[in-house]
Amino acid sequence: MKSLIRFALASAAGLLVAGPALADLKVATSLTDLASVAQWVGGKHVTATSLCRGFEDPHFVPAKPSLMKAIQHADVFISTGLELDGGWLPLVLPGSRNPKIQPGAKGFVDASEGVEVLEKPTGTVSRAEGDIHPLGNPHYNLDPKALEVVADHLAQVFSELDAANAADYAANAKQFDEKIEASLAKWQKQLEPYKGAALLPYHRNFVYFADRFGLKLFGTVEPKPGIPPNPRYISELAGAMKKEGVKLVVYQPYYDADAANQVAKAAGAVALEIASECGGLPGTDDVFSKFDTLVSSIAGALSGKSGGAR
Ligand SMILES: [Zn+2]
Repeated sequence: MKSLIRFALASAAGLLVAGPALADLKVATSLTDLASVAQWVGGKHVTATSLCRGFEDPHFVPAKPSLMKAIQHADVFISTGLELDGGWLPLVLPGSRNPKIQPGAKGFVDASEGVEVLEKPTGTVSRAEGDIHPLGNPHYNLDPKALEVVADHLAQVFSELDAANAADYAANAKQFDEKIEASLAKWQKQLEPYKGAALLPYHRNFVYFADRFGLKLFGTVEPKPGIPPNPRYISELAGAMKKEGVKLVVYQPYYDADAANQVAKAAGAVALEIASECGGLPGTDDVFSKFDTLVSSIAGALSGKSGGAR
């Protein structure tokens, strides 16, 4: 009905040329956080969904036909970029047979464009080292400031594809950025007492978060990306953690909770299950509630009073 009314209005104003320019944008993303930002920026003109769910490992999404079908009629596809989805997206995109969202088309967006990338490798990169993210660390969705860059970028893309609503997209992105700034001040205050504290993530996906909030990272539960730790690695790691006073291990729902807990136990630390993408745990429905939950649980665990100790 809404589109009928708009059609009528546009015709009356003599604005209707041809094609789908006035249709709402169907947006698909490879990460829930990107869908959340897209929804904020798109508001009522956009429906955004993510192929990878928040409790699934964004590196390894099975390239199922159902995913290809889900984006068959999408107007926009937003990739995380930096090869985080490099293992599955190159299969899913062509499988969709949707020319609008293939790389190079107007409807394909690399959300990492404009983001300040951390851990860009220098020198030669060898795949023999495992999944080492050869373009730099792709887990920028853990930096609230990086999401502002994404929001501004998406406002531009949506405006190009749907010029009639450009003013709304710009206003929504501005509102998103302002909300991030206000929230960031609150999150920084919550973590302020723990500046310089070290934590051990399961995978090196906490680099942007640690950088933004002044935390230190100490190794990873996995010895190499995708490789679970063996008992010898665990005991060596735990010994080193004790020496350095590392008291917190964090892991996502899609990683091996037993391994994370074993490492924490051996080191006299706490293992905390966290959601780094929204939808990963209850109460993380959008990027704001995700950071609210993440920051509170990390502050709680570092205070030693509460948190996800098991
Ligand atoms: Zn990674």
